[in-house]
Formats: sequence, structure tokens, C-alpha cells
Amino acid sequence: YPEVQAGSILAGAATRYGDRTAFALGDESLTFAEIYSAACRFANALRARGIGHGDVVAIHLPNCLAYPIAYHGILLAGATFSPTNPLLPPDDLAFQLTDCEAAAVVTFGPVAGTLTAVADRIPSRLTIVVAPAAEGDLGPGTVEFQAFLADQPDTRPDVTVDVHTDLAHLAYTGGTTGRSKGVQLTHRNILANSLQSACWSSGSVPVLDANGDVVIDQIGSEDEFPARLGTGVAINLTPWFHAMGVIAGLNSALLSGSTIVLHSRFDPVAYVADAERLQVTSLGGAPALFAALLATPSFHTADLSSVRGIGSGAAPMNHEMIRALQKRFPGVIIAEGYGLTEMTMGAVISPSYRSGLRKVGSVGGPVFNTELKVVGPDSEEPLPPGQEGEVCLRGPQMMRGYRNRPEENAAALVDGWLHTGDIGVIDEDGYLSIVDRKKDMLLYKGYNVFPRELEELLIALPGVRAAAVIGRPRDDVGELPVAFVVRKPSETPDADRLIAMVNEKVVPYKRLRELHFVDDIPVSAAGKVLKRELRKQLPEFS
Ligand code: ATP
Repeated sequence: YPEVQAGSILAGAATRYGDRTAFALGDESLTFAEIYSAACRFANALRARGIGHGDVVAIHLPNCLAYPIAYHGILLAGATFSPTNPLLPPDDLAFQLTDCEAAAVVTFGPVAGTLTAVADRIPSRLTIVVAPAAEGDLGPGTVEFQAFLADQPDTRPDVTVDVHTDLAHLAYTGGTTGRSKGVQLTHRNILANSLQSACWSSGSVPVLDANGDVVIDQIGSEDEFPARLGTGVAINLTPWFHAMGVIAGLNSALLSGSTIVLHSRFDPVAYVADAERLQVTSLGGAPALFAALLATPSFHTADLSSVRGIGSGAAPMNHEMIRALQKRFPGVIIAEGYGLTEMTMGAVISPSYRSGLRKVGSVGGPVFNTELKVVGPDSEEPLPPGQEGEVCLRGPQMMRGYRNRPEENAAALVDGWLHTGDIGVIDEDGYLSIVDRKKDMLLYKGYNVFPRELEELLIALPGVRAAAVIGRPRDDVGELPVAFVVRKPSETPDADRLIAMVNEKVVPYKRLRELHFVDDIPVSAAGKVLKRELRKQLPEFS
């Protein structure tokens, strides 16, 4: 049934979990029923101003209690949600809001400055400001968040959407490898991927409905299920402007009835203290979160025996980190998700959805109702097990296409499959390992060098806390591998010695040629290493 009533994720969660606490921040909290009631009022307020089906509403907010109200309000109104990173520089913000043709923007006083700076360059006609009110002029259509909701009925607006074609979410890719692209995600994409994530992590059983979509049939016994993340209490630090945050951190938590505790900024000491005090049941985030926690002394001594699962995604977890976490939490499932905005978020997960098994170095198998293959450069035929190729995916969470990018669409969507731009290999049992991003691959005298292999070797060496490898272009050979290394506190490894230790383990064409110590390695808000920033720094190290 392609036509469904808009906003089914929150509406369903509110019916099921009504008085349970859904979100808490400091002394404030909201139950599922309260979030739903406020989101309905938000939706009615949008519709009262003529914003609904076909209109894009941008959210330019850090994670806060207003976020899920506005986000689900937009979905309930039948409009399209488009998140922006509140730290975007003005030109990038103007590009995104113009590209998505935002009719309205929801923002927050302290981050509204950039919006003020670009107000005359963007198309939106309404700005909703979460208190404290912003300084400066945000344009004629500015209204305060609570005033916007006041006097609106808290009944669900009667709006239907076509799940296959209507857009629920216009997500801009992380921009890790270039200018960000608008990924068009339908209501079906969002629903399917939120369910795929929730079903895997909360012990619920997904079934197919008459239309071939996944729906939750029943909540199974948690003890029967191999992976028990989600249900319970978790601290959320993953930004909701990123696909992983909004699907895994927000929607699947709502679907599984979890309580999400928000921290307005990341302080590892406060995080550990709260995790112990609240007896959190899962830890989730990008690998950068776990690196910071492992480097925090209290993380190793606090009573975190309530933790039943650990979930990581958005970027590769190195093997050392998995080992260190497993040692800290014996017997606890450490899950790693692989995905990309073009697949809404999650596509492959370890431990495998079907077997519950994990293989070290592998990101597991496809999530429910999802297919996976790797292909060579000249054919769409799947390569045999063990051969490296481009990872391709297909499933109900696959995007409808990039917005206004016909050439990129033709390259990315081939015969109903998404070409991910990642290089991977599938083993005999169907387990995928990500080798690297195609765009990060170096070419040395025509040979492929994957930085990730060198990074894994470096991170396992004494005194190394973090490492990233990029190429230094040289006309005669192509690119030479150069490492940037962050040392562990109070350790002083020798650069030549580290180079030698790596190089004795690799074939000659992969050898590291330079190694530079740095204070940190730049990462994006979603926790991905920003290699383009490192490339900019390269001339300083010549
Ligand atoms: P852009 O496409 O604009 O450069 P981006 O790639 O950062 O931005 P996202 O959709 O946020 O945009 O990131 C998806 C990419 O993140 C994947 O293609 C993959 O390279 C990487 N990734 C995600 N999860 C994992 C993982 N578990 N292991 C390895 N890589 C991962």
C-alpha cells in the first residue's frame, strides 16, 4: 500500500511507549507521548503556514530536545526534512539551503549567527528559533519555537504520503571526499532503514508486509537474540544532522522504546560518570568516541556492568580498538555497522544479522532485506569470493537519487544497484571487509595502495594513538604514501623506527616514505578522518 499516513514512526512509538521517558537533557525530559503531542502541534503549525507536501524544512540545530519535535513534526506534516551541520561555514550553509530550496529553517540562538550572515542569499521564508532567541535579524518570517507551537491542536494532521516517491529526507553527504550532494530519501527508505536498525538491535522480529517492506511484527525476548543494543538507556552523541545519528540514534531508539540521554557537548569524563550513574545499557557512536573513551582513565575503572552492547559506525573501527573494547567488556557484543547516506544509513552489520557471528576485520553481512555484491571496473557481474572490487548494494533503503545531479546518478545507480565508491571483498561465507574508499586509494607506479592497510599496521605499533595515510603526488611514480601519526601521551616513538616496522610487513610498492607526528588528525563531526584537510597540510611537511 504505497499511500500511508505521514509520520508513522513517532505515532507508533507514542502508542506503544506513551509514558516512558524518550529523551532527557540535564534536568529536562520528555516522554514519548509528550514528544508526539509537540510534534503534532509543530506539524499543524507548518501546515497552517502553507508548508507541507513537497516543501523542504531545514533543521539547523545541535542535538537538543526540540530536534525530535521539529524532525517528526516535519514528517507528520508530509514535508521533507533536510538537516544542516550547525557548524557549517556561511558559504556551505548558503549552498545547502539554496540547493534544497528550504521553505523554512529551524535554528537555535547560539548557532543562528551563520544563518543571519546568509539570510539574504537563501530562499526560506520562515525561521523558527529555539530559545534563547538569536541576536541579529533572521529575516521577516522569524518566530520563536514555543510561540510557533502555541494554540496549535495536538492531533495528528490527516496527511498521506506515497512511500515510494515522496521525499521524507533530503540528506547532504558528509562531504568527506568532495562537495556535499543532496541524497533524496523517500518515506519508504526512512521507515525501512529505521526498522532494519531497530530490529537488529532490539531483539524484535521483522516481517515483510504485502508490499515487500519490512515491518516490526513482534518484540522478541531479548535473551533469544544475539544483539541486544538499543532497548534501555543510552547516551547519544552522534549528531542528528548525520544519517547515522537520525536513523540509528533517534528513530531506531524510538522504535525500540529506549531512553536517550543527550549531552550538549562531548566530555569523556562526564560521559563515563553519566554512563555509570544512569546504568546505560549500550554505548554507541563513531570510532572517534571509543578512541576518546579508551584514553580516559575513569572509563577503565567505572562500574559499567550494565552495558549489554556496543555499536560503532560511520568509519572503520581498527582491530586494536575492537580488541581493547572486548577486553574492557568481556562477553559484550561489539557491533560495527557499515553504510552510507545513499543507503539512508545502514546496509551491512557485524555480527551478521543471520548468524550472529562476527569475523575480525569484517563489517559482517547485509541487514535484513538487503543485497550485497562486489564488482570489477568493467562489469556488473559479481566477482567471486576473495576478489577485491567496488561494493554495490540494493535494498528498500536505497536512495531515489541525488538531487539535480544526473551524471552522478547515472554513475551511482546502475541496474537498480548502488555503487558505493568503497572497495571491498566478500569471503566464502558472504562476510564483507572494507578495504578502503576508492577515492582514498593511492596509485604508485600503477599499483593500488590502500592507506587503510598501512593505518592498521601503524595503529598496532607501540606509542601510536592514531594514524592516517595519504599520498604525496610525484610526477615520476604517481603517489608516495605519507603517514600522519598522533603519539600516545608521554610516549616518544621514533619516526624512522615506525616506518621500518611497517615497511618490513608490506610489499615494496606499498612502503611508507614519510612519517610526521601531529597533535591530532582532523575528523568531521560524524567522526570521519578528513583526508582532504591533511592533503592541504602536506606542503608544510615537505
Ligand atoms: P562524501 O560522500 O560527500 O565524501 P561521506 O562519504 O563522508 O561524504 P557518508 O555517507 O557519511 O558520507 O559516509 C559513508 C562512507 O563512510 C562509506 O562510503 C564508507 O567509506 C565510510 N564508512 C561508513 N561505515 C564504515 C565502516 N564501518 N567501515 C569502513 N568505512 C565505513
